[in-house]
Amino acid sequence: MMQDSADFTQLTAALRGDVIPPNQPGYDAARSVWNAMIDRRPDLIVRCRGAADVQAVMRFAAQRGMPVAVKGGGHNIAGTAVADGGLLIDLSLMRGVHIEPKQRLAMVEGGALLSDLDRESQAYGLATPAGVVSSTGVGGLALGGGFGWLSRKHGLTADNLIAADLVTPAGEQVTVDAESDPELLWGLRGGGGNFGVVTRFTFRLHQVGPQVMFGPTIWRLEDAPAVLRHYGEIAPHLPREACVWADLATAPPLPFLDERHHGEKVLILMQFHAGEAAEAETALAPLRNFGAPIGDAVGPTDYVEAQSRLDDVYEKGARNYWRAFNLHALSDPLPSRLATAAAAMPTPQSDILICLLGGAVAEANPAAAYPHRDAMFSITPGARWMSADDDQMCLDWIKTAFEPIASMAKPGAYVNFIAESAGRERDAYGASYARLAALKARLDPHNRLRSNQNIRPTAS
Ligand SMILES: Cc1cc2nc3c(=O)[nH]c(=O)nc-3n(C[C@H](O)[C@H](O)[C@H](O)COP(=O)(O)OP(=O)(O)OC[C@H]3O[C@@H](n4cnc5c(N)ncnc54)[C@H](O)[C@@H]3O)c2cc1C
Repeated sequence: MMQDSADFTQLTAALRGDVIPPNQPGYDAARSVWNAMIDRRPDLIVRCRGAADVQAVMRFAAQRGMPVAVKGGGHNIAGTAVADGGLLIDLSLMRGVHIEPKQRLAMVEGGALLSDLDRESQAYGLATPAGVVSSTGVGGLALGGGFGWLSRKHGLTADNLIAADLVTPAGEQVTVDAESDPELLWGLRGGGGNFGVVTRFTFRLHQVGPQVMFGPTIWRLEDAPAVLRHYGEIAPHLPREACVWADLATAPPLPFLDERHHGEKVLILMQFHAGEAAEAETALAPLRNFGAPIGDAVGPTDYVEAQSRLDDVYEKGARNYWRAFNLHALSDPLPSRLATAAAAMPTPQSDILICLLGGAVAEANPAAAYPHRDAMFSITPGARWMSADDDQMCLDWIKTAFEPIASMAKPGAYVNFIAESAGRERDAYGASYARLAALKARLDPHNRLRSNQNIRPTAS
């Protein structure tokens, strides 16, 4: 708790940014996150304008033994960006991106969104792998791993993280790279926001686009078991330039889809290829031409446009609950079980997303804590709904429909897709947990940064 108004004055004077107490204008907007199920009230929100502000807040918190939560893009499904009580560092004013084209590096402030990173990188024809919805924060995504269309070719976002400016829980400013602190860099590549507040990320960039092959092919739900079986066989062997995710969803009113299918449950394969157009056509043809699709809109697309094409589908403000599974293979009886679960989806906003990994993601990287290299698919059934009156119906769907599927998953789950804010840490960090706990003991012995998939500080 804040001690008194003298504390408040002292903190305000130490900042370029703003201090927002409860019930002041801006407080509710600053504590709101993507998932409308989350409604938490920090004692104080600090909207930082730079590393010096973050340092001042961390020192203030350390002197008073206060916990600190960190909000980047606010997309975390478990709502870990906000906590009840304590301080909230809001990084939304720190979205700068600087590109060094000759060195192919991006220097990215801690509160930047994927749209900021992609837009600035593509000005130079460059990109680094990131997620598929442009309003997602770089911070949470990169620190948990981060995968998207480019990951089979260029690895996780975290694999491309080569340095970070970090404010530690003690309020020290450090620059972390492979020379200065390889253990901490290892921990930042998958260990989440447990070790400090990253004010600046440095990512390796790759030549990409400006055009890529991108778009959906759509099948009726009754065809989904056969198409998913085929996808499960073909997708892991695609060239690394290609990435295809499957989504069981309700068809939006897409212009290329016959009106009679609008609002029907369907299977969508979202296809991406970062190579030559002719190579893309050849690589994607076995999937696109399978069976009897009812719609297809795969074509040359600007990379930045591809990166934001799904934004409307996943707009902020809905109530959400997800489950997260890792799979070695998508094989029988899963395709028909997934189609059965999709048939019972409770709302038009709900979906079952199947992300393809493999390629560069599957290559061992001993310099990264991310533990799920052997998962070929990550499956995320997502219940999404608008009214609290539907909470029970939506939670029931997700809890019951997925029991038969959960038994086929491999242990563990991607940290950034876990909807529970506590109790899933071993699933999230897997074999890296004990080493991460020792690192946590060095950086954050009092567990000041605990609003995350929390690693308990434990001396090795
Ligand atoms: C619509 C949607 C689409 C998504 N798509 C993908 C995808 O394609 N690929 C993928 O890999 N993931 C995806 N995700 C998951 C995403 O990676 C996580 O939600 C991630 O936490 C988002 O980061 P954020 O900064 O927006 O999160 P926030 O909610 O702001 O933060 C989450 C946690 O990250 C930490 N954190 C954030 N920034 C910093 C920082 N600068 N320094 C220290 N700690 C920090 C904090 O511990 C915080 O609790 C998606 C999520 C959503 C909601």
